[in-house]
Amino acid sequence: MSSMFGKTRTSAMPDRAECNVAVLGIRGSGKSALTVKFLTRRFISEYDPNMEDIYSSEEIVDQQPVLVKVMDTADQDGPVNCERYLTWAGAFLVVYSIDDRRTFEGCQRYLDVVAAHAKSLQVDLPVLLLGNKLDMERYRQVSESDGCALASHYSCLFFEVSACQDFISVQRVFHEAVREARRD
Ligand code: GDP
Ligand code: MG
Repeated sequence: MSSMFGKTRTSAMPDRAECNVAVLGIRGSGKSALTVKFLTRRFISEYDPNMEDIYSSEEIVDQQPVLVKVMDTADQDGPVNCERYLTWAGAFLVVYSIDDRRTFEGCQRYLDVVAAHAKSLQVDLPVLLLGNKLDMERYRQVSESDGCALASHYSCLFFEVSACQDFISVQRVFHEAVREARRD
């Protein structure tokens, strides 16, 4: 189509849809392993625990393309300098490890931080609580019902996953985060 300036223009393109997802939780819960699994379909067992970065992936969620950016956070010991993800993310994954009670208890502070931020902005910020390392069932320290109860207390979705098992269930939680962010 020719515009009045004589240049050929494509039809007006809407801004490309993007969704920023921050992955939060205590060190060792498997944030990096889940992030890498989502991005590469592979399980990388050793990942620098201090490494914090943002990665992106072109995804199709419910037939609609979206650029998903994932911030794999690396707090030392609980939430600090949270503005970097609170102001950036449109959805949050709060991760614990089902075989480590301490990581589950650590989730509460992250859930509080996000809830307080959402309240201060008077917006709904989608949060998904993830019990990771489902393959470690034998060493489970956090029951599924405890996970469920914590999630319902904060009105967030809850999933149990494993970064070292099937890719589809890991992909599903990231896609669910996009869906939740689209809803708001
Ligand atoms: P982060 O500190 O939260 O980023 O945790 P990492 O992704 O570095 O994982 C911490 C440790 O848990 C590493 O030794 C991983 O190999 C291991 N890990 C992560 N996810 C899983 C999982 O789903 N199952 C098992 N068995 N180990 C996992
Ligand atoms: Mg990490």
